[in-house]
Amino acid sequence: MGLKIYLDGKFVDEEEAKVSVFDHGFLYGDGVFEGIRAYHNSVFRLKDHVDRLYDSAKAVNMEIPVNKEQMSEIILESCRQNDLKDAYIRVVVSRGKGDLGLDPRKCSVPTVVCIASSISIYPEEMYEKGLDVITVPTRRNGPEGVNPRIKSLNYLNNIMAKIEANMAGVPEAILLNQEGYVAECTGDNIFMVKNGILKTPAIHLGLLEGVTRNEVIAIARKEGIDVQETTFTRYDLFVADEVFLTGTAAELIPVVKVDDRVIADGKPGPIFHKLLQQFREIVKEPEALIFK
Ligand code: PMP
Repeated sequence: MGLKIYLDGKFVDEEEAKVSVFDHGFLYGDGVFEGIRAYHNSVFRLKDHVDRLYDSAKAVNMEIPVNKEQMSEIILESCRQNDLKDAYIRVVVSRGKGDLGLDPRKCSVPTVVCIASSISIYPEEMYEKGLDVITVPTRRNGPEGVNPRIKSLNYLNNIMAKIEANMAGVPEAILLNQEGYVAECTGDNIFMVKNGILKTPAIHLGLLEGVTRNEVIAIARKEGIDVQETTFTRYDLFVADEVFLTGTAAELIPVVKVDDRVIADGKPGPIFHKLLQQFREIVKEPEALIFK
């Protein structure tokens, strides 16, 4: 049986969930989105994701045709309609149907889609063994263009980096910013540990302010770990004690090799383990309940 998808005001069968070829999301990547997760009958950090969606929309001058409360209810109802207690949820708001020109004024109303599907969890082995990653030639686009804080439908930059990782036979790519500092990965934020200090690139360097990133920073501070949102280079990663990535889908995932340099002893480190364990405890706490 297919999924029930929310599309512009109603739930329709997956086969009926169709958007016009004149939609500017399709023609130009003109739109914004969110990737959200539900754990044990509760949507994790629903407010943070909805706020980020509306901030992204505001930044690209798009008015979402439902308010935040309605959007939150659409997300919860998408899980209910599909009887999901654990889910990966994708919300997409595109500029809507227009003509072949790129002028958004020709698009009358944004298209709103919400897809809730069962989550395919990464193999536990990846969390135990860690990832081998590389830095790629494609740079993160700078904040002076489409600011990476905007979670826009324009992911071609990240896709180019992913292709470069694929070609190198590794699962993920690190993108540097225009100045050569570490920014983030194609769909995850990045952290490193050196001498007990947890470091992650500062937002102004040009990266998405990940919900998981913020959660990990909060957990670390609560645990008494010194956290710095700062600037670092590939060199700092090579000589780090630990490196890991964070994202809604992956949660926290260790990195054991960067550009062929083995990180520390090549095994996921103690701070990573501690933070992952805490994170997995927190996601169990009931928050935005799907089924009350
Ligand atoms: N960076 C990029 C480019 C992403 O696409 C994502 C995934 N949404 C992240 C970071 C991680 O963000 P979050 O923790 O909110 O999923």
